[in-house]
Amino acid sequence: MAVDAPQIKSTSTEQCLKCKECGNEYPLEARFVCEQCFGPLEVQYDFGGLDVAEAKRKIQAGPQSIWRYSDFLPFEEQPKSVLATGMTPLIHATRLGAYLGGLKNVYIKNDAANPTHSFKDRVVSIAIAKARELGYDVIACASTGNLANAVAAHAAAAGLDSYVFIPTDLEEQKILATGVYGTELVGVKGNYDDVNRLCTELSAEYDWAFVNINMRPYYSEGSKTLAYEAIEQLGWEVPDRVVAPIASGSLFTKLFKGYNEWLDVGLVDGKTPIFHGAQATGCNPVATAFENGNDFCQPVKPDTIAKSLAIGNPADGPYALDVARGTGGSIEQVTDDEIRAGIKLLAHTTGVFTETAGGVTVASLKKLADRGEIDPDETVVVYITGEGLKTLDAARGTFEKYEIDPTVDAFNHFVPTPVTA
Ligand SMILES: *Cc1c(COP(=O)(O)O)cnc(C)c1O
Ligand SMILES: [Zn+2]
Repeated sequence: MAVDAPQIKSTSTEQCLKCKECGNEYPLEARFVCEQCFGPLEVQYDFGGLDVAEAKRKIQAGPQSIWRYSDFLPFEEQPKSVLATGMTPLIHATRLGAYLGGLKNVYIKNDAANPTHSFKDRVVSIAIAKARELGYDVIACASTGNLANAVAAHAAAAGLDSYVFIPTDLEEQKILATGVYGTELVGVKGNYDDVNRLCTELSAEYDWAFVNINMRPYYSEGSKTLAYEAIEQLGWEVPDRVVAPIASGSLFTKLFKGYNEWLDVGLVDGKTPIFHGAQATGCNPVATAFENGNDFCQPVKPDTIAKSLAIGNPADGPYALDVARGTGGSIEQVTDDEIRAGIKLLAHTTGVFTETAGGVTVASLKKLADRGEIDPDETVVVYITGEGLKTLDAARGTFEKYEIDPTVDAFNHFVPTPVTA
């Protein structure tokens, strides 16, 4: 794969890390909690000096990857990577929309079409580019699966050592698709929340870039590109609604940040979309808090086939609640059976085979449609964040397969023949 062409930054946007709670500011370094109040840090930009027409021109002339958005990402110099990530298809899902009661403008953002087949390529590309800028040569992460794949692959491509920590009970496909890249793969006897706690402790002992711990403010910026791309691919329009899955709540809250940044600087007209989050009933801390009208999430012990969303103590849960409530949206929850049905519905109507997280998202979309919340003319972007081949067990037993002797008679006897004129 070609290395992205170098690009010069057209503007010098001022950037810093800012505490989401008390507003304290820090330089762009490996730091993720506020020293004053222990609140989470986020990259803050001052787009005051941005030449909007020039920024748009540069985006459109940029590489076919997330680096076309580098004016909106936290780097001193033009970042690059050898595994080009992003510019995944946005599919007008007319048959899915028709099935859901005549919705005319349902769009599927298929982020399985990334180098390691999930949206985690975006966050890892940003985190590793920043880790290199800060001088790290070991990359690490705590993962529910897709992050493991992406860290192992992007570290290999960059020639960096990596350590990937996963719960031991992960899907075999995700373990195989990580180890193959030559990472140090560490199975931890516990759930994701145990893995994450361990890695937080390790990050104090080892001078490594943990992409979703000490690199988290940069990592999370990668998710904004999923908002930018949808706007571009809709012909510089903002959708009316978005439906996206929630694990830690990072993707969900950064999508919101991405849409608002472009609305605020005037790259696009319109208003902030209505945000719908999607969780599995077997790991529903944010959906439950939403239903109960709480501002905080009560941690849960995950038990769901949607392992990539199985974070029982979501770091960005309260912010995800703010986004759903502030936009007039909701946070849905769906059972494992509904997840399997969601995977099947998407496959039958669009030809896209998604993993369990996508099943959660599609099943949540169906809930909204069944409740009549979506106007037939509204534009809805549905974020499909991972690939079905990584969670094959979810498809097992969901369809019939015939076994016949190799004769026409046998076929005629056993297989329902298509109706012919
Ligand atoms: C990680 C992941 C998400 C979302 O995770 P957040 O922690 O909420 O950002 C969604 N879908 C898939 C497939 C994932 O791997
Ligand atoms: Zn603070």
